[in-house]
Amino acid sequence: MPSSEAALRAQGSETKVEVLPSQFYEDRLSTVARARKPSPIWDLFSVEFNPGILSMLAGKPHPDTFPFEYIQLGIRPPGSEPDDPSVRVQDLTIRDDELATALQYNVTPGIPELNQWMFKMMQEVHKRGPNEGWRVSIGPGSQDLLYKAFNAFLNPGDMVMVEGPTYPGATPILEALSCQYVPIDTDQDGIIASELAKILGNWDPSKPMPKILYTIPFGSNPSGVTASLERRVEILKLSKKYGFIILEDDPYYFLYYGDAPRPPSYFTLEKQVLGEVGRVLRFDSFSKVLSAGFRIGWLTGPERLLAAIECHSATSVVQASSLSQVVILKLLREWGVEGLVKHADKVAKFYKKRRDVMAACLDRHLKGLAEWSQPDAAMFYWLKLKLPSSVDLKSVTIEGDSTVFIRSKAIDRGVLVLPGATAFVDGRQTACVRVSFSLLTEKETDEAIRRLAEVLKEEIHS
Ligand code: PMP
Repeated sequence: MPSSEAALRAQGSETKVEVLPSQFYEDRLSTVARARKPSPIWDLFSVEFNPGILSMLAGKPHPDTFPFEYIQLGIRPPGSEPDDPSVRVQDLTIRDDELATALQYNVTPGIPELNQWMFKMMQEVHKRGPNEGWRVSIGPGSQDLLYKAFNAFLNPGDMVMVEGPTYPGATPILEALSCQYVPIDTDQDGIIASELAKILGNWDPSKPMPKILYTIPFGSNPSGVTASLERRVEILKLSKKYGFIILEDDPYYFLYYGDAPRPPSYFTLEKQVLGEVGRVLRFDSFSKVLSAGFRIGWLTGPERLLAAIECHSATSVVQASSLSQVVILKLLREWGVEGLVKHADKVAKFYKKRRDVMAACLDRHLKGLAEWSQPDAAMFYWLKLKLPSSVDLKSVTIEGDSTVFIRSKAIDRGVLVLPGATAFVDGRQTACVRVSFSLLTEKETDEAIRRLAEVLKEEIHS
């Protein structure tokens, strides 16, 4: 264990912490977010639960009009194999009161009991205390929560710091918001903190400082990189020095399979490193661990930021699917946090095996035709293809264009990967591609990489 990590662990969760004042967030929210007000009937909804009250408030449909008697649900025990005949599938059929909850409207932050489970899980997994100015809000997938978070911070023209490359699902959101980007280079340890320090240290004082840094710290989509502990600590210190909030988008937190101990999240570390909390807004998702079809993600962070995002949700999607929430609630009642973590560890092992299969195929077919580093989490390799550069003057080299190569050559040969340009916000041309190793079998992976190598060789020698 690196010594800094040991020191941080030794500090434990009893560290005394300061909570940032609410003005800190007011200064960073967008004009639209500050203008959003909670629905005028929101507070009345809770009155519905007052004992003895006869409520004619809500426009909830009558459950007797719904045609469902029960919703059958069966789950395997945590850590079990899908096709193991000795495994007893547990019947958790949804009926009666649970069915009524699953089929009815609920509150925007999520079904209260599920919200409490998520809070407990965040406390246990991320070693945070309950009275530190944070809570949890459940939403319809991290994608939606990211969309709303960016909307909550960014006015047109505002600066946003992103990794280069960053999540291809985030770039269109940022483009639509007409903000300005500060791409920060990454390497095998994540965001290069010294680059970030240089950029912020030389910031033009006539321009407002960036309010947020968006990062994917585990098995980043698309680069596959997991940020090291040392980098995380440096970045947190910069967030304090320059006053920016870290948007920690972490759907791959549980899919870490590196040999070194898993680095703590920013949400854990802010308390341990800064002795102060409220600079991290976390995005988690059940998509990669339980199922993407449930569309359930959750936010964890300062009350004011969650409230701003919930105000947005209350006027758009209203809430995440009650049915999906009830399914997850039943699973958590059955498994507990411990069972969920056990299941997630199994999922991580699954992806590690797939990573190893892909590693062997890359070595077999692509040596000398591309460069890559091995991911320690999630499901992506980021390959830099040795495509001929489009301009190669002495002072300027423009990388070959993987977009054209994939769209016009690779697809014709029956192989598809994601062109890397989708992961940059500055419109640059890149020879990189993202290769996912989640779905294909060993045989299919080998054939896919063989095809990629074949078409690449032709391109290089044409
Ligand atoms: N962030 C990242 C980095 C992702 O890779 C994804 C899913 N591809 C998401 C967010 C969105 O996840 P969800 O399914 O929870 O919306």
